[in-house]
Amino acid sequence: MRAVVYKGPHEVSVDNVPDATIEHPTDVVVRITSTNICGSDLHMYEGRTDFEEGRIIGHENLGEVVEVGNGVHKLKRGDKVCLPFNIGCGFCENCEARKTAFCLEANPGFAGAAYGYAKMGPYSGGQADYLRVPYADFNCLILPEDVAEKENDYVMLTDIFPTGWHATHLANMSDGDTVLVWGDGPVGVMAAYSAVLRDASQVLIVGHHADRLKLAEDFGAIPINEHEVDPQEQIAEYTDGRGADCACECVGYQAHNQHGEEQPNLVMNNLVQGVRPTGTIGVVGLFVPEDPNAASEMNQRGQIAFDMGKFFEKGQKMGTGQADVKAYIRRLRSLVHHGKAKPSLMLSHELPLEQAPQAYQNFDERAAGWTKVVLKPDRSA
Ligand code: ZN
Repeated sequence: MRAVVYKGPHEVSVDNVPDATIEHPTDVVVRITSTNICGSDLHMYEGRTDFEEGRIIGHENLGEVVEVGNGVHKLKRGDKVCLPFNIGCGFCENCEARKTAFCLEANPGFAGAAYGYAKMGPYSGGQADYLRVPYADFNCLILPEDVAEKENDYVMLTDIFPTGWHATHLANMSDGDTVLVWGDGPVGVMAAYSAVLRDASQVLIVGHHADRLKLAEDFGAIPINEHEVDPQEQIAEYTDGRGADCACECVGYQAHNQHGEEQPNLVMNNLVQGVRPTGTIGVVGLFVPEDPNAASEMNQRGQIAFDMGKFFEKGQKMGTGQADVKAYIRRLRSLVHHGKAKPSLMLSHELPLEQAPQAYQNFDERAAGWTKVVLKPDRSA
């Protein structure tokens, strides 16, 4: 089969590799029909993780079940399924508590597993013709028949839509809140979208990509272009000087300042400033415990200069971590199915698998117009 293979910093290629197969009775094999490139794939693409060369990337996957292990109970051949990016066993303490991003069984010695991702276990990614899905009854969500028209919406349920939704939950958002979203990547835009769907009174989204901010403006968020205005002044203006009720951090450790220099504490400290006293910050942007290629020694250890004093003085709270996709995915599927949500609004490019190398390059450069890419392995180049 063909697969997108990581070759080293800034290099992926579409290679012929051995087919995905059933390795355990509870596995299925899925023929992939949609697989997104994620902003978090770019951390690996840029060589900023210890992702091993030769591995297959891709954790935002949707397709059709084509092989079923004899220990699988519910799934059958021909089912169209979407696959949360987290792999959960379904029976450990954390999975039982719906904290499936922190499964204790799927990646022994570590809390959390995913497809094709650094540190998240031995599982191959789905930017390929086929994907092995472990604990398949738990990790496949069967899709309704309208997947025929809404496949590009349903594939967003694998990560960016639930991750944006999760950010609003980590931020303790209530209806009527003014929600501040920092970051205009796909997750930032989906966090803003989730806040709108969850009845925020105002959603302020800070970023510097005109095309992405426009998408958010179109569904009712208020765009703040940090390269054109002072975001803190704008936040103060929209909130009568109080600050936002809560905030979503959707940038992570590779935050850049106005001069294009990396400054990992930049967004966190901006949120402490921009959120009102006793407000909550939900952090879904990626932070890592080691970053050997960071500029400073502190950042190499995964530490940042955080405004702890201000945070404490304001009595703020913080929630962090990857999205427990399983906790939300059925309800988000219903929002798509009943026409209340259309997360494919983020999508700019549908490409055959062969074009993955160019797609990675453009998405990594944040080239204008490249807001989100879905690869379609069953389409010819
Ligand atoms: Zn992702």
